[in-house]
Amino acid sequence: MRSATVSRDGQHWYVSFLVDDGHATPGQHPAPNSAVGVDRGVAVAVACSDGTMRDRQFRTPGETRRHRVLQQKLARQARGSTNRKKTLVALRQVKRRERDRRHDFVSWTANRLATRHALVAVEDLRTRNMTRSAKGTIDAPGSKVKQKAGLNRSVLDKGWHKLQLALENVARYRGTRIVKVPAAYTSQRCSVCRRVDPESRESQARFRCTACGHAENADVNAAKNVLRGCRKIS
Ligand SMILES: [Zn+2]
Repeated sequence: MRSATVSRDGQHWYVSFLVDDGHATPGQHPAPNSAVGVDRGVAVAVACSDGTMRDRQFRTPGETRRHRVLQQKLARQARGSTNRKKTLVALRQVKRRERDRRHDFVSWTANRLATRHALVAVEDLRTRNMTRSAKGTIDAPGSKVKQKAGLNRSVLDKGWHKLQLALENVARYRGTRIVKVPAAYTSQRCSVCRRVDPESRESQARFRCTACGHAENADVNAAKNVLRGCRKIS
Protein backbone atom coordinates (compact mmCIF):
# COMPACT_ATOMS: atom_id res chain seq x y z
CA MET A 1 0.00 0.00 0.00
CA ARG A 2 1.29 3.44 -0.89
CA SER A 3 -1.02 5.83 0.93
CA ALA A 4 -4.37 6.20 2.64
CA THR A 5 -6.68 9.20 2.98
CA VAL A 6 -9.73 9.69 5.17
CA SER A 7 -12.61 12.00 4.33
CA ARG A 8 -16.18 12.56 5.45
CA ASP A 9 -19.28 14.22 4.05
CA GLY A 10 -21.29 14.79 7.22
CA GLN A 11 -22.95 11.40 7.53
CA HIS A 12 -20.40 8.91 6.26
CA TRP A 13 -16.69 8.39 6.56
CA TYR A 14 -14.62 7.29 3.61
CA VAL A 15 -11.20 5.73 3.61
CA SER A 16 -9.37 5.57 0.29
CA PHE A 17 -6.26 3.53 -0.29
CA LEU A 18 -3.83 4.02 -3.08
CA VAL A 19 -2.32 0.64 -3.83
CA ASP A 20 0.40 -0.56 -6.09
CA ASP A 21 -1.43 -3.53 -7.58
CA GLY A 22 1.43 -4.76 -9.74
CA HIS A 23 -0.68 -4.48 -12.89
CA ALA A 24 1.34 -3.37 -15.87
CA THR A 25 -0.10 -1.77 -18.99
CA PRO A 26 -0.25 -4.46 -21.66
CA GLY A 27 1.85 -3.86 -24.76
CA GLN A 28 -0.99 -4.59 -27.11
CA HIS A 29 -4.70 -4.00 -26.84
CA PRO A 30 -6.94 -7.05 -27.52
CA ALA A 31 -8.60 -5.12 -30.40
CA PRO A 32 -5.56 -3.31 -31.83
CA ASN A 33 -7.28 -1.84 -34.89
CA SER A 34 -10.46 -0.62 -33.31
CA ALA A 35 -10.86 3.14 -32.83
CA VAL A 36 -13.82 5.18 -31.67
CA GLY A 37 -14.63 8.87 -31.38
CA VAL A 38 -16.73 9.97 -28.44
CA ASP A 39 -18.78 13.10 -28.12
CA ARG A 40 -20.30 14.45 -24.96
CA GLY A 41 -23.81 15.00 -26.20
CA VAL A 42 -26.29 17.71 -25.43
CA ALA A 43 -29.30 15.48 -26.05
CA VAL A 44 -27.71 12.27 -24.72
CA ALA A 45 -24.81 11.85 -22.31
CA VAL A 46 -22.38 10.00 -24.58
CA ALA A 47 -22.48 9.47 -28.35
CA CYS A 48 -19.97 7.37 -30.29
CA SER A 49 -18.76 7.49 -33.87
CA ASP A 50 -20.03 3.91 -34.40
CA GLY A 51 -23.56 5.17 -33.75
CA THR A 52 -23.98 3.86 -30.21
CA MET A 53 -25.35 6.23 -27.61
CA ARG A 54 -25.41 5.97 -23.88
CA ASP A 55 -27.63 7.89 -21.58
CA ARG A 56 -29.04 7.52 -18.14
CA GLN A 57 -31.45 9.41 -15.97
CA PHE A 58 -29.56 10.18 -12.79
CA ARG A 59 -32.59 11.35 -10.87
CA THR A 60 -36.11 9.94 -11.12
CA PRO A 61 -39.13 12.29 -11.41
CA GLY A 62 -40.15 11.18 -7.91
CA GLU A 63 -36.75 12.16 -6.54
CA THR A 64 -36.90 15.54 -8.26
CA ARG A 65 -40.26 16.18 -6.60
CA ARG A 66 -38.98 15.00 -3.24
CA HIS A 67 -35.91 17.22 -3.56
CA ARG A 68 -38.11 20.25 -4.21
CA VAL A 69 -40.42 19.47 -1.29
CA LEU A 70 -37.46 18.98 1.05
CA GLN A 71 -35.93 22.29 -0.01
CA GLN A 72 -39.18 24.12 0.65
CA LYS A 73 -39.35 22.44 4.05
CA LEU A 74 -35.78 23.46 4.79
CA ALA A 75 -36.56 27.10 4.03
CA ARG A 76 -39.24 27.13 6.74
CA GLN A 77 -37.22 25.39 9.44
CA ALA A 78 -35.29 27.25 12.12
CA ARG A 79 -31.51 27.18 11.93
CA GLY A 80 -29.98 24.62 14.26
CA SER A 81 -33.29 22.84 14.93
CA THR A 82 -33.51 19.04 15.05
CA ASN A 83 -36.07 18.96 12.25
CA ARG A 84 -33.82 21.00 10.00
CA LYS A 85 -31.01 18.54 10.59
CA LYS A 86 -33.33 15.68 9.63
CA THR A 87 -34.29 17.47 6.43
CA LEU A 88 -30.63 18.03 5.59
CA VAL A 89 -29.91 14.32 6.02
CA ALA A 90 -32.82 13.45 3.72
CA LEU A 91 -31.59 15.95 1.11
CA ARG A 92 -28.11 14.47 1.20
CA GLN A 93 -29.59 11.02 0.62
CA VAL A 94 -31.30 12.15 -2.57
CA LYS A 95 -28.06 13.72 -3.78
CA ARG A 96 -26.04 10.65 -2.88
CA ARG A 97 -28.28 8.37 -4.95
CA GLU A 98 -27.87 10.66 -7.92
CA ARG A 99 -24.10 10.76 -7.47
CA ASP A 100 -23.90 6.97 -7.20
CA ARG A 101 -25.81 6.49 -10.44
CA ARG A 102 -23.58 8.99 -12.21
CA HIS A 103 -20.51 7.18 -10.91
CA ASP A 104 -21.86 3.80 -12.12
CA PHE A 105 -22.66 5.23 -15.53
CA VAL A 106 -19.21 6.76 -15.94
CA SER A 107 -17.36 3.62 -14.81
CA TRP A 108 -19.44 1.32 -17.00
CA THR A 109 -19.06 3.53 -20.07
CA ALA A 110 -15.31 4.01 -19.61
CA ASN A 111 -14.79 0.30 -19.11
CA ARG A 112 -16.75 -0.65 -22.20
CA LEU A 113 -15.08 1.94 -24.45
CA ALA A 114 -11.52 1.20 -23.37
CA THR A 115 -12.07 -2.58 -23.51
CA ARG A 116 -13.54 -2.60 -27.01
CA HIS A 117 -11.28 -0.04 -28.63
CA ALA A 118 -7.52 0.39 -28.76
CA LEU A 119 -7.92 4.08 -29.43
CA VAL A 120 -10.54 6.36 -27.89
CA ALA A 121 -10.71 9.93 -29.18
CA VAL A 122 -12.44 12.46 -26.94
CA GLU A 123 -12.94 16.17 -27.35
CA ASP A 124 -10.55 18.33 -25.41
CA LEU A 125 -12.59 20.63 -23.21
CA ARG A 126 -9.84 23.21 -22.93
CA THR A 127 -9.97 23.97 -26.61
CA ARG A 128 -13.72 23.82 -26.95
CA ASN A 129 -15.27 27.14 -27.92
CA MET A 130 -18.80 28.40 -27.74
CA THR A 131 -19.86 27.19 -31.20
CA ARG A 132 -21.57 24.19 -29.69
CA SER A 133 -24.14 26.25 -27.82
CA ALA A 134 -25.04 28.52 -30.76
CA LYS A 135 -27.86 26.20 -31.63
CA GLY A 136 -29.36 23.62 -29.37
CA THR A 137 -29.37 25.14 -25.93
CA ILE A 138 -29.36 28.91 -25.96
CA ASP A 139 -31.78 29.30 -28.86
CA ALA A 140 -34.46 27.40 -27.00
CA PRO A 141 -37.29 29.65 -25.83
CA GLY A 142 -38.20 30.14 -22.19
CA SER A 143 -37.14 32.18 -19.21
CA LYS A 144 -33.56 32.36 -17.96
CA VAL A 145 -32.52 30.11 -20.82
CA LYS A 146 -29.00 31.51 -20.91
CA GLN A 147 -28.37 30.93 -17.23
CA LYS A 148 -29.85 27.44 -17.36
CA ALA A 149 -27.82 26.58 -20.44
CA GLY A 150 -24.68 27.71 -18.61
CA LEU A 151 -25.58 25.62 -15.61
CA ASN A 152 -26.38 22.53 -17.67
CA ARG A 153 -23.11 22.93 -19.49
CA SER A 154 -21.11 23.10 -16.30
CA VAL A 155 -22.83 19.95 -15.02
CA LEU A 156 -22.11 18.21 -18.32
CA ASP A 157 -18.50 19.39 -18.26
CA LYS A 158 -18.08 17.92 -14.83
CA GLY A 159 -19.42 14.53 -15.91
CA TRP A 160 -17.26 14.67 -19.01
CA HIS A 161 -14.14 15.31 -17.00
CA LYS A 162 -14.99 12.32 -14.78
CA LEU A 163 -15.45 10.13 -17.83
CA GLN A 164 -12.04 11.16 -19.15
CA LEU A 165 -10.40 10.32 -15.83
CA ALA A 166 -12.17 6.96 -15.72
CA LEU A 167 -11.09 6.24 -19.31
CA GLU A 168 -7.47 7.02 -18.52
CA ASN A 169 -7.69 4.73 -15.52
CA VAL A 170 -9.11 1.75 -17.46
CA ALA A 171 -6.71 2.47 -20.33
CA ARG A 172 -3.77 1.64 -18.08
CA TYR A 173 -5.02 -1.95 -17.72
CA ARG A 174 -6.07 -2.47 -21.32
CA GLY A 175 -3.32 -0.66 -23.20
CA THR A 176 -5.82 1.74 -24.74
CA ARG A 177 -4.72 5.09 -26.13
CA ILE A 178 -6.86 8.05 -25.09
CA VAL A 179 -6.40 11.01 -27.42
CA LYS A 180 -7.77 14.47 -26.70
CA VAL A 181 -8.81 16.26 -29.85
CA PRO A 182 -9.29 20.02 -30.29
CA ALA A 183 -13.04 20.19 -30.64
CA ALA A 184 -13.80 23.44 -32.45
CA TYR A 185 -16.69 23.10 -34.90
CA THR A 186 -17.16 19.35 -34.40
CA SER A 187 -20.88 19.97 -33.94
CA GLN A 188 -21.23 22.17 -37.04
CA ARG A 189 -19.05 20.20 -39.43
CA CYS A 190 -20.46 17.57 -41.78
CA SER A 191 -18.70 14.24 -41.17
CA VAL A 192 -19.10 13.36 -44.87
CA CYS A 193 -18.23 16.46 -46.92
CA ARG A 194 -16.41 18.40 -44.12
CA ARG A 195 -18.40 21.58 -44.71
CA VAL A 196 -18.83 23.78 -41.60
CA ASP A 197 -22.15 25.56 -41.32
CA PRO A 198 -24.07 26.38 -38.12
CA GLU A 199 -27.26 26.02 -40.17
CA SER A 200 -26.55 22.32 -40.63
CA ARG A 201 -27.37 21.84 -36.98
CA GLU A 202 -31.06 21.50 -37.62
CA SER A 203 -31.96 20.98 -33.96
CA GLN A 204 -30.34 19.80 -30.79
CA ALA A 205 -30.60 16.19 -31.88
CA ARG A 206 -30.53 16.43 -35.65
CA PHE A 207 -27.78 17.27 -38.12
CA ARG A 208 -28.58 17.88 -41.79
CA CYS A 209 -25.75 19.16 -43.98
CA THR A 210 -26.70 22.25 -45.97
CA ALA A 211 -24.16 21.30 -48.66
CA CYS A 212 -24.49 17.53 -49.28
CA GLY A 213 -27.71 16.72 -47.43
CA HIS A 214 -26.10 14.13 -45.14
CA ALA A 215 -28.42 13.65 -42.18
CA GLU A 216 -27.83 11.87 -38.89
CA ASN A 217 -27.96 12.24 -35.15
CA ALA A 218 -26.08 15.47 -34.36
CA ASP A 219 -24.00 13.94 -31.56
CA VAL A 220 -22.97 10.91 -33.63
CA ASN A 221 -21.95 13.24 -36.47
CA ALA A 222 -19.83 15.20 -33.98
CA ALA A 223 -18.28 11.98 -32.60
CA LYS A 224 -17.21 11.03 -36.14
CA ASN A 225 -15.50 14.42 -36.47
CA VAL A 226 -13.71 13.86 -33.16
CA LEU A 227 -12.36 10.52 -34.43
CA ARG A 228 -11.26 12.05 -37.71
CA GLY A 229 -9.62 14.96 -35.90
CA CYS A 230 -7.63 12.48 -33.85
CA ARG A 231 -6.43 10.62 -36.95
CA LYS A 232 -5.22 13.92 -38.30
CA ILE A 233 -3.08 14.74 -35.29
CA SER A 234 -1.70 11.28 -34.52
ZN1 LIG B 1 -22.07 17.40 -46.07
